[in-house]
Amino acid sequence: MHILRLPVGIYQTNSYVLFCGKRHTLLVDPGDDPGTLLSAIAGTHLAAILLTHGHPDHTGALAELRQATGAPVGVHPADAELLPVPPDLKLHDGQVVHFGRCRVRVHHLPGHTPGSVGLQLSGHRWLVGDTIFPGGPGHTDSPADFAQLMQTLWQRIFVLPRKTQLLPGHGEPTTVDHEYEPFHTFLRKGWAEDAYGDVRWDTKPGVPGSMTPSMQHA
Ligand SMILES: [Zn+2]
Ligand SMILES: [Zn+2]
Repeated sequence: MHILRLPVGIYQTNSYVLFCGKRHTLLVDPGDDPGTLLSAIAGTHLAAILLTHGHPDHTGALAELRQATGAPVGVHPADAELLPVPPDLKLHDGQVVHFGRCRVRVHHLPGHTPGSVGLQLSGHRWLVGDTIFPGGPGHTDSPADFAQLMQTLWQRIFVLPRKTQLLPGHGEPTTVDHEYEPFHTFLRKGWAEDAYGDVRWDTKPGVPGSMTPSMQHA
């Protein structure tokens, strides 16, 4: 399986095109720039358009891509109402999506949104949406969401083999290995009960100034 990462739109959302051979594709998170995405999949059979979650910076070109390709749109039911168009497929934890002779497995990763999912690809690679970035977790809107996201990371991400590549919804890829020590150091230090927002693993507990507005997005 070949992965093409295309940063699109003002938030430079990573849209991913997954190729199985040259003819079969999946499109993940069509955030913006529909023309770029349509060129990338031109001449292939697009099996589905999948969303890691329903935020607008990941769905900006969704209506246009669906209209142009007729491909079914898949999202976790908990994020379905965030979409600009009604989804055709409901993605559930453990579900396998086939395209050509390849497949991806869906993992529910709630926290950044209730319906966030990760997509497990062949070769220890995961598309993780806005669940984790190099240096910190994704944005959360409340202390309860942050606690949920930390539980997801603890139970679903940091149990993966250390060599697992994490391909996020914005910016460069990272690995479980690279994030492992900073994450566990953060856990050992603990965090303020009311922590949420744009937290980084090197955030000092209770110091608002160490939040990073640069990662803020819808
Ligand atoms: Zn998001
Ligand atoms: Zn995003």
